[in-house]
Amino acid sequence: MAGPQRVAIIGGGISGLATAYFLHASRPAPEVVLLEAGGRLGGKVLTREVAGHRVDTGPDGFLLRTPGMRALIDSLGLRPALVTPASAGAYLWSRSSLRRLPAGAQFGLPHRIRPLLESRLLSPAGLLRAAGDLVLPATALPDDPTVAELVRARFGDQVLDRLVDPLLGGIHAGRADRLSARSTVPDIEGLARESRSLHLALRRRANGASSGPAFATLETGMSGLVDALAATLDDVRLGTAAIAVEPLAHGYRVHLDPGGPLDVDAVVLAVPAPAAARLLAPLAPDAAVALDEIPYADVASVVLAYPQQAVRRPLDGTGFLVPPAEGRLIVGCTWLPAKWSHLADPSVVLIRCSVGRHGDTRWTVFDDQELVARVHRELAPALELSAPPLHSHVQRWPHGLPQYTVGHSGRLGRIDTALRALPGIHLTGAAYRGVGVAACVADAERTASVLIDSGRVRTSGQTTSGQA
Ligand SMILES: Cc1cc2nc3c(=O)[nH]c(=O)nc-3n(C[C@H](O)[C@H](O)[C@H](O)COP(=O)(O)OP(=O)(O)OC[C@H]3O[C@@H](n4cnc5c(N)ncnc54)[C@H](O)[C@@H]3O)c2cc1C
Repeated sequence: MAGPQRVAIIGGGISGLATAYFLHASRPAPEVVLLEAGGRLGGKVLTREVAGHRVDTGPDGFLLRTPGMRALIDSLGLRPALVTPASAGAYLWSRSSLRRLPAGAQFGLPHRIRPLLESRLLSPAGLLRAAGDLVLPATALPDDPTVAELVRARFGDQVLDRLVDPLLGGIHAGRADRLSARSTVPDIEGLARESRSLHLALRRRANGASSGPAFATLETGMSGLVDALAATLDDVRLGTAAIAVEPLAHGYRVHLDPGGPLDVDAVVLAVPAPAAARLLAPLAPDAAVALDEIPYADVASVVLAYPQQAVRRPLDGTGFLVPPAEGRLIVGCTWLPAKWSHLADPSVVLIRCSVGRHGDTRWTVFDDQELVARVHRELAPALELSAPPLHSHVQRWPHGLPQYTVGHSGRLGRIDTALRALPGIHLTGAAYRGVGVAACVADAERTASVLIDSGRVRTSGQTTSGQA
């Protein structure tokens, strides 16, 4: 049976754009209409001009090692624009100083001993406990352990508090004692279940890992990816919100604001979970309830441009992370010219700080000016700053990062079950199977191929995991 003739994609973030791209590239291609409520495409992907440079205030890069992301970059002709990090290594702001994070760690978990010893991040007792992973019997993990439960059982509290929790803050704006290991770091959870020693399993995996940079950005900033995807599409409607989805005998009617209704064979919801919940509430109330249970962290990016001579500390790494126990507003700080060579400038130093993590909304009460002042005050001792910033830019991201807390996979299961009654409705996006840009692209490709291959859009159920 032929696939859908006309598909509405609701949401013009990277997930909606990539789904539209993959559908458009399929043969025979359905007619694709991309609906975006806002006045621009990209969603959380946003490049702004700060002090004459194109600076990302959402994601500032993506995982390059995933095959789907590499293929997308190549097929969009973006390989010449790729920029890989200019420096390696980062710091931790802990007990009033910057301490080098040990090399040879995956997700903060050590797979090489010597850099961990040399970092002096752990006390002798903490090191001894971390080494316990080598001799302790296999851990009996609960069905859906938190990241904290998994890490503490193998390596103890100090690895958790000083290495893993800060990293979870930097990447997910999340907390180890809330995030599900199975959903947030499935590969590490898998290794922990299969192997007695997680350290040895990580070491084996690191030895077999492909070389080459894992992370990259574009010299145009990440909006270059948005522009390249958008250039392949025919029907993109900005400033057009989907306000309701009504089932028809065959397909769906999407009600728009502004604009008349749009009749389609299939609908892809590529919007954040709360927006998907609102659209699905009348059609699939159980799915809407599960979607509303997915929590989000409110975060902001604060970009500061300092005069070159005001930054006295050498920027010999990509930046630093801050453990929650420090009580700071700053969760992570990127030294942009050190990380991305195209942002180096002889007159200004661009620094990007992230504030906000799940459960910490202190920053939301400050206006932009106050937020900049507080972030500057926290940065001053770390970077030995002698002057305030020349320019600043604050980008607030309410509901910025979805949290895969314990029970996440159960919630996805409930959404799948509820959507079986709505053939042709699909969900994709950061809220489900991976938060990062590369994971969103992978999920978009999977969603597009389920839609195209199945040919069952009008006759049988499609699920969030792609199984009927
Ligand atoms: C500060 C920050 C830093 C990050 N850093 C990184 C990083 O370095 N690397 C990385 O890989 N990932 C990073 N991420 C994560 C990644 O950027 C996001 O998870 C991803 O971009 C989300 O894409 P999305 O398309 O799923 O959702 P979104 O970007 O949220 O897009 C959803 C779109 O749907 C639209 N919409 C909502 N409701 C409607 C409606 N009713 N009708 C029509 N349109 C609607 C919205 O306007 C929006 O444009 C970061 C995220 C943030 C916030």
